[in-house]
Amino acid sequence: MITISNLHKQFHQLQVLKGISLSVDKGKVVVIIGPSGSGKTTLLRCLNALEIPSEGSVQIGSVQLDFSKKVSKQDIQRLRKQTGMVFQSYNLFPHMTALQNVMEGPVTVKGEKPERAKEKAVKLLTKVGLADKLDHYPAQLSGGQQQRVGIARALAMDPQVMLFDEPTSALDPELVGEVLKVMKELAVEGMTMIVVTHEMGFAREVADEIIFMDQGVIVERGAPEQFFTRPAEERTRQFLQHLK
Ligand code: ADP
Repeated sequence: MITISNLHKQFHQLQVLKGISLSVDKGKVVVIIGPSGSGKTTLLRCLNALEIPSEGSVQIGSVQLDFSKKVSKQDIQRLRKQTGMVFQSYNLFPHMTALQNVMEGPVTVKGEKPERAKEKAVKLLTKVGLADKLDHYPAQLSGGQQQRVGIARALAMDPQVMLFDEPTSALDPELVGEVLKVMKELAVEGMTMIVVTHEMGFAREVADEIIFMDQGVIVERGAPEQFFTRPAEERTRQFLQHLK
């Protein structure tokens, strides 16, 4: 479903991604961990073409882009349509209700009929446990509820892959579980997901593979059980030690 080859990204002089290669099979969940500044967010943003890689290629589903060549706006749009992204800050439109927030993309970007988009939005908001909050504005919702609207909004675009960038980092501790629960349900249903998170419980339980990044490279990857109990690399051991 996803193949990333030799991905590089630099901002001016700063090399942030230094040759990332990774593939993810359909239906698998990959959790990316690593210290702050290691390039995790930049990697996700490159997959969504929110950042344009300096070099390398990305294939998601049927769309493949080689960033060593010139890519067109249409290419970027095609890649972007493959993924749904959930951010740390929920980025909902404050003047729109939960329902309107979820309908917005399908209607304006995909040209879906409002009745059909509404039907789908109600279904998705019900799925994330917000059937009784359709007409609430973001300010009337808790952080956990807003983030669940954010997930429903991303799903409304029918993405092949879901990208989560620290989706629970801004939440009060008691609200983290309700968001992780929705993400776990998605994983169980077979959604292909890449998740950047500090939630090691989620990583252990839900991930098929853990990727440890540091200073723009993948230092180590492995199945959760092996990764957490018998990491091969000293840098991984040090990082895990810090979490305890
Ligand atoms: P992480 O998600 O692992 O914390 P990031 O991908 O956010 O790491 O950042 C990696 C490095 O890239 C950091 O040094 C950060 O300051 C830098 N960086 C990220 N985005 C930009 C940008 N738009 N312009 C310049 N530097 C950036």
